[in-house]
Amino acid sequence: MKTLVYIDHFKGEIQPASWEALGLGKSLGSVSAVVFGANVDAIAKAAFEHGADEVFVADDSSLEDYRAEPYASTLSALASSSTPDLILFPTTARTRELAAMSAVDLSTGVLTDITGLEANGDSLVATRPIYEGKVMEKSVCNGKPVMATIRPRAFPKPEPDSSKSGIATKIEAKSDALTTVEGYAQSESAVNLGDAGVIVSGGRGVSNNPSLQPPAGMDDKEAEVWRAHQGFALIGELANVLNGAVGASRAAVDGGYIPYAHQVGQTGKVVTPDLYIACGISGAIQHLVGMRNAKVIVAINKDADAPIFTQARYGVVGDLFKILPALTDAFKKKLGK
Ligand SMILES: Cc1cc2nc3c(=O)[nH]c(=O)nc-3n(C[C@H](O)[C@H](O)[C@H](O)COP(=O)(O)OP(=O)(O)OC[C@H]3O[C@@H](n4cnc5c(N)ncnc54)[C@H](O)[C@@H]3O)c2cc1C
Repeated sequence: MKTLVYIDHFKGEIQPASWEALGLGKSLGSVSAVVFGANVDAIAKAAFEHGADEVFVADDSSLEDYRAEPYASTLSALASSSTPDLILFPTTARTRELAAMSAVDLSTGVLTDITGLEANGDSLVATRPIYEGKVMEKSVCNGKPVMATIRPRAFPKPEPDSSKSGIATKIEAKSDALTTVEGYAQSESAVNLGDAGVIVSGGRGVSNNPSLQPPAGMDDKEAEVWRAHQGFALIGELANVLNGAVGASRAAVDGGYIPYAHQVGQTGKVVTPDLYIACGISGAIQHLVGMRNAKVIVAINKDADAPIFTQARYGVVGDLFKILPALTDAFKKKLGK
């Protein structure tokens, strides 16, 4: 099996699931990494260290910023000349677009957000969760090459080995973009819950601390949001100590406590961290479908009968405003921070 793996990055910052895709490709046969951008030698070097047998690099100022047209044309030209059996991508907003455009060029299809891939005779059978994770779908792509985007943290990540190296093969960039990127602005949607190993999430309960006195002049709703911000500050501190990300329930997002980019669940992100700490979240099914595949779930809730406890490995019944500071202090001591 000959596999190309697209290494997705933003200004040199590599999406970790790119390495997971590389590891998957390696487990099936020979694997070539594909790196696009400008001044990307460091990424090509990292690809060899993560186990690539070969690295194709299109290093050109016209590819400095991701745009679908030149990236897809460059990838399609490479796939046409190198005739891989399989092209793998980490699932990101960019690769969903890139894989789809390139699949049109190559007259093939894309299996999206897969969590498993097995060879069965001549076909590759992909697994992916559907219907909120209740059913695992098996699907095949009848085109060639098979293209697939993999869900972050669904496959093991190979350990880098700095003794591995190689000389990258330069390929031509197809600079057919009719657009240019003028700049970027920081956005809350930069929250990357998919790759986080630890997520500390807050729900409606983060606003429930009547003893906190809001500044004078606030109406009830303003006071609720102000209290919620104090609660999310505690969540942020714990996430920070654990090098984790901050998640939220939909009630917290709808309440205006925190932006939508943090929402976990059916209409938010589906996450699979090693550790998920749910604070003041009741455990509605629409929230559970987004986080129940976390390796370890910890729930902090005042109500001992809250459904979240049915999913939790560890449960703490009590007031999050008391428990979170104590937990953060304990982790700081334990981790020497
Ligand atoms: C079509 C659809 C899609 C949806 N999609 C999503 C989704 O993607 N994600 C999502 O989360 N929800 C989603 N929902 C909403 C979902 O049904 C629930 O309403 C929501 O998850 C509830 O959020 P919550 O647990 O924060 O709030 P609540 O259910 O109100 O629970 C708050 C919890 O906080 C606890 N609490 C209160 N004060 C404290 C305190 N001081 N300390 C500790 N605990 C405290 C309470 O005991 C309670 O259990 C969706 C609903 C629908 C209909």
